[in-house]
Amino acid sequence: MEGREINVSGTLVWYYYICPREVWLIGHQINPDEDDANVSLGRFIQDYSYPRERKELIVGHSKMDVFRVSEEGLVVGEVKKSSKYRNSARMQLAFYLSELKQRGIKAMGELRFPREKRKEIVVLDEQTERELDRVCREILRILYLPRPPEPKKINFCRKCAYAEFCWS
Ligand code: SF4
Repeated sequence: MEGREINVSGTLVWYYYICPREVWLIGHQINPDEDDANVSLGRFIQDYSYPRERKELIVGHSKMDVFRVSEEGLVVGEVKKSSKYRNSARMQLAFYLSELKQRGIKAMGELRFPREKRKEIVVLDEQTERELDRVCREILRILYLPRPPEPKKINFCRKCAYAEFCWS
């Protein structure tokens, strides 16, 4: 990581709950197979759902979608293919809320799962902030490792774009 700035991003927070090896690989900009079918479907759903409502906002090192401005402030959204990794998605969105809070911007989060026709509200409460703090420190610890953590077989491997890299 010499000479390169190290930053925690929302994407790394999402992967932290899935696989620490993936955190290291993404953090070191070792990119997965972009043509992987799961990556493509996920990106398609994220990019093309709710096109009229969404405005992209870049804050610090995070790129997030803003759905609307309400009485609670900005409503920042995250669109996911499924709710299977709901906790990861919740913490990713909480990370965006924290980035905004640090800049004095009031916001709340809205997770959306268009294929399941579901929505979920995310707020940054004390417990979530404490968890985020712990996760950010853990992510930095992983990124500073000299090599990626060893691969561990988990369900996610089957659809992970790094599968060939890890297991062949
Ligand atoms: S294939 Fe499995 S071990 Fe390798 S990065 Fe993906 S989830 Fe992690």
